[in-house]
Amino acid sequence: LEKVVKEYEGTPPLRILHGIDLTVTEGELVAVVGPSGSGKSTLLALIGTLDRPTSGRIHLEGHDLAAMSERQVAALRARRIGFVFQQFFLLPGLTTVENVATGLLYTGESARRRRERAVRALHDVGLEHRLGHRPNQLSGGEKQRVAIARALVGRPGLLLADEPTGSLDTASGRGVVDLLRRLNEEGTTVVVITHDRDLAASFPRQVVIQDGWLTFDERSGDSAPAAGSRAHGGLV
Ligand code: ATP
Ligand code: MG
Repeated sequence: LEKVVKEYEGTPPLRILHGIDLTVTEGELVAVVGPSGSGKSTLLALIGTLDRPTSGRIHLEGHDLAAMSERQVAALRARRIGFVFQQFFLLPGLTTVENVATGLLYTGESARRRRERAVRALHDVGLEHRLGHRPNQLSGGEKQRVAIARALVGRPGLLLADEPTGSLDTASGRGVVDLLRRLNEEGTTVVVITHDRDLAASFPRQVVIQDGWLTFDERSGDSAPAAGSRAHGGLV
């Protein structure tokens, strides 16, 4: 992201993000923290191409999003980005396998092939014993693992998670975070919004957003903050 500004209409316009410079490199595991209303979800939506900036540039895997049509952006998003949200957003009428297989609808593969891949993804997240369950028959942690399987079944390069542990108890949340870490070790770039300071501090890189400004950006083990960051007094 280069000088990314996001405003909403109003008089005067409401500026939510004030010129964010942020580079996430392939293979990174990044925590985004900051107070409620500071712009974290807005930032994640921009990175995920769900929204467009008011000004500034966003490049995704070398593509300048501003130069692409909505259709091209949607295709890139479907193939390359997985999303996980606090509220899971599983489809209640579908089984676990069917929910995960929806993550492959864009591929044009046969229903049978999609099902096979969904089953494998559910094995990957430790839910091979829950294939025929519906969401209301699953625990919160299990639901979130289904959502992660759905996000990852198409093997996207980038996983964006907006408070994935926000609805979970500590133990289930830890299970989900361990899963995200493992997926990252296997090569997926992961950006996670969290309110959990301990969790964020355990990540290799932390980015802090405050009032729409990127105020802190540090990789653990770095002697100096990452380029472009402005250090501030303590984390949120
Ligand atoms: P939380 O931790 O509570 O999830 P956040 O950091 O994710 O907060 P955002 O959801 O990005 O915050 O919202 C940032 C600001 O933008 C908030 O003040 C919010 O009210 C405002 N905002 C978000 N969407 C819109 C919209 N469509 N129109 C106007 N303002 C909006
Ligand atoms: Mg949010």
